[in-house]
Amino acid sequence: MENIFTSLGISDKVFEFGEKILERIKPRFEEIDKTAEYNQAKVIGAMQKNRVSATCFAGTTGYGYDDLGRDTLEKVYADIFHTEAALVRPQITCGTHALATALSANLLPGDELLSPVGRPYDTLEEVIGIRESKCSLKEYGVTYREAELKEDGTFDYDAIREAINEKTKLVTIQRSKGYKTRPTFSVKQIGELISFVKSIKPDVICMVDNCYGEFVERIEPSDVGADMTVGSLIKNPGGGLAPVGGYICGTKEAVERCAYRLSAPGLGQEVGANLGVMTSLYEGLFLSPTVVASALKGAIFAANIYEELGFKVVPNSTESRHDIIQAVELGSAERMKAFCHGIQAAAPVDSFAIPEPSPMPGYDSDVIMAAGAFVQGSSIELSADGPIREPYAVYFQGGLTWAHAKLGILMSLQKLHEKNLVEF
Ligand SMILES: *Cc1c(COP(=O)(O)O)cnc(C)c1O
Repeated sequence: MENIFTSLGISDKVFEFGEKILERIKPRFEEIDKTAEYNQAKVIGAMQKNRVSATCFAGTTGYGYDDLGRDTLEKVYADIFHTEAALVRPQITCGTHALATALSANLLPGDELLSPVGRPYDTLEEVIGIRESKCSLKEYGVTYREAELKEDGTFDYDAIREAINEKTKLVTIQRSKGYKTRPTFSVKQIGELISFVKSIKPDVICMVDNCYGEFVERIEPSDVGADMTVGSLIKNPGGGLAPVGGYICGTKEAVERCAYRLSAPGLGQEVGANLGVMTSLYEGLFLSPTVVASALKGAIFAANIYEELGFKVVPNSTESRHDIIQAVELGSAERMKAFCHGIQAAAPVDSFAIPEPSPMPGYDSDVIMAAGAFVQGSSIELSADGPIREPYAVYFQGGLTWAHAKLGILMSLQKLHEKNLVEF
């Protein structure tokens, strides 16, 4: 074992440090495997119930009327998420697009959007109009309010109650921490928040940004009252194979509106050719539970390594997991660069590239990204990124296989070690 790692540039010291850490976290891997088994059965069950067949993999073009593969996939998603309807399309270009579609389809001028979990993900700032942007919800007369989380990262129920008013139409709840170091919420916590919101205003639409959360637990936000559960196919549910796409699972009414917003009023879900990507969307979904398990193992391995070295890690080395992201507060841009260099150097694709911070559309500070991915920007594949700003946290996620996640983390440590940026 050591030899093959040495040939890739991992020193004995780094390798042995990793093995020592691994010994103590192995028991947690069993629990992760059990969840993967459960979710694998859930996915297979939904595919069987909807009679997925080879015909579903046929490509369609043009308007895409009567697209069996597309329509069946949407039924499969609806069954997995236990929702009335689902919109799952390659025409949804990314997670932000899925979220923007869900919001703009269900908010009308004069309505108010509330985030009860503090500031949402960076790219949504422009969707909402928190940062000026053309075509933002704000431009269309949709107002926005937020309730900050409490100091300890829990919901501030008093502030939320105060923020809900006669205009409040939709509540957006981001499950994952995003580029923050707040905790990620469990599905159970999200359920409690939704119940609270609905006890004050029963007809409010609750949407959950489920990015990075799919299949980490045995239930999804749609199992605890979310009217719309939204995410990206180049994250968890695409299983690394989906080349593009997003999903919105939810009530018939909400999803129908999303379909009209995505295509055109009157057209809705009836149009949208699948362009030949169906095999990847089905097969990726099939693989997703075990891919998510690999990513989770990597996240826990990274947390334990970097916590042992004295860095703050979120979640910490022993906490339960509700998404696949691991934040490591490295405290300097130098360390962020070395960490990302290691992740990049361990990749199967573009391993020779050296990541550098640069401006990114939708983000207000320079961002560094390491990813040697088969699908461009896919962050279910092993990747690390983070905005170059306090507290200089790198967000590490993905790994289509546990073995690759492990190699990437060891390589990140190797690069930090070589530059004398860590001591162990
Ligand atoms: C990734 C992500 C998004 C946006 O998805 P993109 O595909 O990058 O547009 C939104 N919210 C959260 C929490 C995310 O992790």
